[in-house]
Amino acid sequence: MSPSATLAMSQKSTELKAQGVDVINLSVGEPDFETPVHIRDAAKKAIDDGYTRYTPVPGYMSLRKAVAAKLERENGLSYKPEQIVVSNGAKQSLCNIILSTINPGDEVVIPTPAWVSYIEMVKLAEGVVKEVPATIEQDFKVTPEQLASALNEKTRMVLICSPSNPTGSVYTRDELQALVDVLKEWPNVIILADEIYEHINYTGAFTSLGSFPETADRTVIVNGVSKAYAMTGWRVGWCAAPLWLAKATNKLQGQYTSGCSSIAQKAAEAAYEGSQECVEEMRKAFERRRNLIVELASQIPGWKVNVPQGAFYLFPEVSSYFGKRAGDKVIENANDLAMYLLEEAHVATVDGGAFSLPGYLRLSYATSDDNLREAMRRISTALAKLN
Ligand code: PMP
Ligand code: GLU
Repeated sequence: MSPSATLAMSQKSTELKAQGVDVINLSVGEPDFETPVHIRDAAKKAIDDGYTRYTPVPGYMSLRKAVAAKLERENGLSYKPEQIVVSNGAKQSLCNIILSTINPGDEVVIPTPAWVSYIEMVKLAEGVVKEVPATIEQDFKVTPEQLASALNEKTRMVLICSPSNPTGSVYTRDELQALVDVLKEWPNVIILADEIYEHINYTGAFTSLGSFPETADRTVIVNGVSKAYAMTGWRVGWCAAPLWLAKATNKLQGQYTSGCSSIAQKAAEAAYEGSQECVEEMRKAFERRRNLIVELASQIPGWKVNVPQGAFYLFPEVSSYFGKRAGDKVIENANDLAMYLLEEAHVATVDGGAFSLPGYLRLSYATSDDNLREAMRRISTALAKLN
C-alpha cells in the first residue's frame, strides 16, 4: 500500500511549521471550525454519566436509532437500526465494507479522480481497481456509457463519491438515475456510496444513492459526523447497509477494533439529535470561501478552474507550468509543482496524481478568507518566478 498522500502532505506542512516556517496548509481536508458547543457538552456529560465502557460493536442502539432517524428525516430512507454499523470514522466503514465483500481478483470500479484511500483499501482486500477517468471538461463526472464499458462479470463493486473529494463535483438526481439505469443490469454489483460531504453542498439539492428502488437492496451508504459537524478528531462514521452486509461488517469490526469510542458516540448522537443550524452556518462559510478561491484561482495564468458544487476542494488543471524551471530544477509534474509551492510559497497543496489524475493540484479551502487570499497571492508570485 502507498501511504496517504493527503496525510503525508499535511504532516510535512506541520513539520515545517514546527521549524518556524509560516506555512498555509491547503493540503488536508478538514473543517477548520471547532466542534459546536452543544456536541462538546454532550461528550463531557457522557463521561460524567459513566459512558466509559465497551460499547456494542456496531455502536449504541440509541446512536443507531439517531442515524436511522437522520436517514428518514433528511433522505426519506427507511433503515432499521440493525442495518447501521458505527465505526471509527467513515474511513473504517468504507474499509469494513470493502474487506467484507471483495475477494482476491474481484473488480471494483472507481470513477477518478477519487479520494486517495479507496484504491489502497481495495489493494488491501487483494481486489482489482478499474478506474474510470473523468477530466475537468466533463466536470469530473463519469457518463453512463463510461460506467457501462467498465462493468463485466468480475465486477463486484462500484464506488461513487458525491459531493466528491477531490473535485467538489456533485451528481444531480438525473445523472445518478442514468448510472443506476446501467447498474440495474448487474445484480451482483454492490454500490458503495460515500456521502460524507452530503451537507457541504452548494446546489441546494442532494440525492442519496440509497434512494433508487431499482438498486437499493445492494446499495451501501457511508456517512459520518467528521465533515458536517466539524468532528474529524472524534472518529465516528457509519454505514447503512443491507442486513447481511451490516452483519458481516459487524463480525469483522468485532475482531479488529470493537465499537468506536463511547464518548464520541454520545457526542455524535447529540450532533444528529440537536439543532442543525450549525451545519448550515458552516456550509454557508464554505460556500463563501468557494466563491473566493474560484475568483482568485481563475486569475492565475494557465490554470483551468472549474466551479466545485460541494465539499471544500478546488482541483485546478495546472499542466501549463510543466517544463518550466525554478533555477536548475525543471517542474516535470504536479508533484514537483506542489513541492515547489511548499518550498517557495510555503503553501501546502496535494498533487492530483495522488487522486489518480496527474496534471492537477488539490487545494482545500477549509480555512479562513485571510489565509485563502494570502495563499493565492503567494502561489501567484511563486508561479510568476518560473521560466
Ligand atoms: N470519504 C472521503 C471522500 C473523505 O474525504 C474522508 C475524509 N478523510 C472520509 C471518507 C473519511 O472521513 P472520516 O474517517 O473522518 O469519517
Ligand atoms: N478527507 C481528508 C482529505 O482528503 C482527510 C485526510 C484523509 O483522511 O485522507 O484530505
